[in-house]
Amino acid sequence: MNLSLQTLLKQAKEKMGSCTHPMVREKALETIRRAYAEGIFVRITEGYRSHARQNELYTQGRTKPGKVVTNARGGQSYHNYGLAVDYVLLSPDGKKALWQVNSDWRRVAAIAKSLGFEWGGDWQTFKDYPHLQMTDGLSLVQLRNGAKPNLGESAASKKAPIADIQSTLVSRYGFSLKIDDLFGPETKQALLKAYQTELNKQFGANLVVDGVWGPKTSAASVTLHPGARGNLTWILQALLYCSGFDPQGMDGILGEKTVAALRSFQRGSGLKVDGLAGVATFRELFK
Ligand SMILES: [Zn+2]
Repeated sequence: MNLSLQTLLKQAKEKMGSCTHPMVREKALETIRRAYAEGIFVRITEGYRSHARQNELYTQGRTKPGKVVTNARGGQSYHNYGLAVDYVLLSPDGKKALWQVNSDWRRVAAIAKSLGFEWGGDWQTFKDYPHLQMTDGLSLVQLRNGAKPNLGESAASKKAPIADIQSTLVSRYGFSLKIDDLFGPETKQALLKAYQTELNKQFGANLVVDGVWGPKTSAASVTLHPGARGNLTWILQALLYCSGFDPQGMDGILGEKTVAALRSFQRGSGLKVDGLAGVATFRELFK
């Protein structure tokens, strides 16, 4: 039997405890809810961490056996101020922790970021894929000196990119679609219908707009090159975003950031990493 959302939320609350900042707690729970709606099961493995526990962890792999798990001593991690949580994905029955940083993992990070978290997977030097934090721009030195973050609604971003994608699909193509800011099968199907519509309009493809990827859609597919502009590029950007590869904007222009997201997606999916959006890439994105 699949884990219930209630169980996931309850476990997360217990794990985070009362010393995790209320806004961080609330946004972590919201991340779990939204991921759950997309069929992704998220467990919070860590929230607030005391200075003593941080020092204990620091010795692991140094003076004590095991693998190094942190570069921070007590007071040197945002966990010590209740401003960070760590997550892992679970198998639907909750029995297995899934540590592979795949598109589901990135999707959870994208959801958390849309709610105002920074993600450790975006860091350049030391990538900390399970780690999410909200700092309000405060450094650890400032926090050690007693500064308190202001994590009101202003700090938590109100952006809802998937709702924007859904609204565009409704207004541009006239599809009927629930605007709930959740990426599910219906939104994906609407994006495929949009893709078919554009192939018909721009290339005279004569496809039935049914939101099903078949041999005719495959044969009619085109390849988008860097610099490509228009609705097809927008569809590509929307698909990349929803798959957890943020093109950092949906302007309908296949610029550097979209190419970077596209290449990451191709690498993660075992496709040829060429930065071109061709039939194999679209087929994979619509899977
Ligand atoms: Zn962490």
